[in-house]
Amino acid sequence: MNHPLNSWAARDQASVLHPYTNLAQHAETGPLVIRRGKGVRVQDEEGRWYLEGMAGLWSASLGFDEPRLVEAATKQLQALPFYHIFNGRSHEPAIELAEKLLSLAPAGLSRVLFSNSGSEANDAAIKLAWHYHHLIGKPQKRKIIGRERAYHGVTIAAASATGQVANHNGFGLPLPGFLRTGSASHWHDALPGENEADFVARRARELEELIAAEGADTIAAFIAEPVTGGGGVFVPPDGYFAAIQEVLRRHEILFIVDEVITGFGRTGTLFASERFGLRPDLLSTAKALSASFLPISALLVSEKINQALLAGSATHGPFAHGVTYAAHPVCAAVALETLRLYEERDIIGHIAQVSPLLQDGLRALLDHPLVGNARGVGLIGAVEIVADKAAKRHFDPALGVGARVQAAALKRGVILRGLKGDAIAACPPLIIRPAEIEELLGALRGALDDVQAWLE
Ligand code: PLP
Repeated sequence: MNHPLNSWAARDQASVLHPYTNLAQHAETGPLVIRRGKGVRVQDEEGRWYLEGMAGLWSASLGFDEPRLVEAATKQLQALPFYHIFNGRSHEPAIELAEKLLSLAPAGLSRVLFSNSGSEANDAAIKLAWHYHHLIGKPQKRKIIGRERAYHGVTIAAASATGQVANHNGFGLPLPGFLRTGSASHWHDALPGENEADFVARRARELEELIAAEGADTIAAFIAEPVTGGGGVFVPPDGYFAAIQEVLRRHEILFIVDEVITGFGRTGTLFASERFGLRPDLLSTAKALSASFLPISALLVSEKINQALLAGSATHGPFAHGVTYAAHPVCAAVALETLRLYEERDIIGHIAQVSPLLQDGLRALLDHPLVGNARGVGLIGAVEIVADKAAKRHFDPALGVGARVQAAALKRGVILRGLKGDAIAACPPLIIRPAEIEELLGALRGALDDVQAWLE
């Protein structure tokens, strides 16, 4: 497509390097330029409105025009637009936000390490796992176990822990010492005829075997998303995390829980750790922490690790980690206001009320000839497109069926996301209302019909 010389699209193509975009294709087609937002919707430069069924990147929990957050940012910009927290300096938004997070967090977490993104939070978690073992006299405990299909971000350690080849190929990743075990997706990865209980038992056994093969005294941590997001949106079977945690505890392997998507209500509880009975040593959050109005992430750290860090002062001096914008006061003020809004508006109650509409609606799509699986929890879910339901066979990737459904939904005014393996994800703003969920589901069914007609 040739865009007019001075259009936003042409200027974009000549200047912006786009994350997670086929760059050659983009050079042909150009961007969708979004100009403004309101409620759960965004508008493109030509004036077309779209229901943002992905909350941007699984993240814009309060939609796209919350005046209270604008006000919180403005007030803080006027009072103190920047200060840092290195060398024992602090500021009120950092302190208030840390206190608030700890008051909401799962038991046992007692300190907060701030940075700017989910990737950085996970990188910091891995560094802290290494540092912790070093400080307690077990410096050989360094290896990190991640899972297939997982997504933890793009910084070097987070990408190494990610279980997707696209994040490794051509980048020389994963780094040595990053190990991988199987996913928690029964639908994708169960053996023929294997029920959920047997699948869970096998996953725990495989983890045990991996640890035995590598030596427990060489392994620092295991990292997992409670509900896998970008890798396909799936919920672990009952008992999965209980079985995994039992293995980790026995081998003194730290548990890093990546709640970058699931934190702050997405799965129906404030943290998914509550819902799935997780006891994290380190818990990473980002995205909905600030409703994505500004970039900020928070790594919640257990008292056990905090004690080791404190004791480390004697041997190592200052804690040598931190980024310039850690707890940036404007981002922290917006995050604090976001957490207040979740409480004031009873976002958890709202999710309890509306999420069955999304979950039942996705499962109702199982009657569609293209839908082989429908899954999710709270306000995150997906349908999986298959060529053969019984055999769980996907279409030839060259057909790009998932991308076609995504494009067809966009034409119908709803933004959804086609993931690898032809899963179509929905993860709308947490404030979505029943009529908007119906609209999302209607567009998804229509898009599936469009692609079905194209296939025939
Ligand atoms: N962890 C999970 C589960 C994610 O979904 C993401 C991003 O989508 C990240 C980590 C990385 O976060 P960021 O893109 O803010 O670096």
